[in-house]
Amino acid sequence: MDRLSSHRATKEVVNKHNFKFSKSLGQNFLIDDNVIDRILEGARLSETDRIIEVGPGIGTLTREMGKVAENVVAIEIDKTLIPILQETLADLDNVEVVNEDILKVDVQGLINEKLNGGPVKLVANLPYYITTPIVMKFLEEDIPVTDIVVMVQKEVADRMNAKPSTKDYGALSVAVQYYCDTEIVAKAPRHMFVPQPNVDSIVIGLHVRDEKKYVVDNEDIFFKTVKASFGQRRKTLLNSLGGLGFLSKDQIKEALKAANIDEKRRGETLSIDEFANLSNEINKFSSK
Ligand code: SAM
Repeated sequence: MDRLSSHRATKEVVNKHNFKFSKSLGQNFLIDDNVIDRILEGARLSETDRIIEVGPGIGTLTREMGKVAENVVAIEIDKTLIPILQETLADLDNVEVVNEDILKVDVQGLINEKLNGGPVKLVANLPYYITTPIVMKFLEEDIPVTDIVVMVQKEVADRMNAKPSTKDYGALSVAVQYYCDTEIVAKAPRHMFVPQPNVDSIVIGLHVRDEKKYVVDNEDIFFKTVKASFGQRRKTLLNSLGGLGFLSKDQIKEALKAANIDEKRRGETLSIDEFANLSNEINKFSSK
């Protein structure tokens, strides 16, 4: 078996196994060879790479990664796909399929057991209903991931990639860009999937920085500050930061002044550097 991705090849596998697509598991399989190649390029895949894939489906992207990378561990929740994957990936002994739910599995344990402790790249066409929890799990749980190259709904990619003072800029933009440099890798309109979803997609690359770019004294306070600032988007920072729950109005004023931020500004105008400075000032009060 060479490639699986063309519409015909995918149809053949699906028909042969009488596979029933599950909408609730976000099963929209990619059938465009060009986009698959772009994903591999975006991930700068090489023969020393250890890859985690979430949701291999029938193994279309998995096969192409298995041909290049050192190892691929593909985590698939749907047990009806396991016998299909055993067949479509049979000739690749560096690929292992794990029948688990990505949100419940101990990813670090898997990496230690099957991928020599990492570092790893996460490369996947993600199930849309849990895109953000998956990406944040990899970024926040100290998993040794260097690059995340994933197909996501266009709107989510726009939010991850957004700059301050744009309509898409929000807590997700700050959370992702706090850790990563972002890059739009490829567009994937809805007709490139079967069954066709009712949204368009984008492959986004999140390249985790080796060195921290922002000086944050307390990450917990940083993320709480970001959350409160975007919590009520139309409020000024002076008002929205009240949502933190532990600062008086005077303390908020003082922190904003010390961070050189006008109290009438709204959270959506703050750069990540400004959020970092502000949270460092707020942190001084929380530790008093
Ligand atoms: N990689 C394939 C492709 O590109 O054609 C399939 C991608 S499809 C958008 C998403 C895949 O994620 C499906 O195979 C689905 O069964 C799987 N999936 C959904 N929820 C999951 C979860 N919680 N853990 C692991 N896999 C999941």
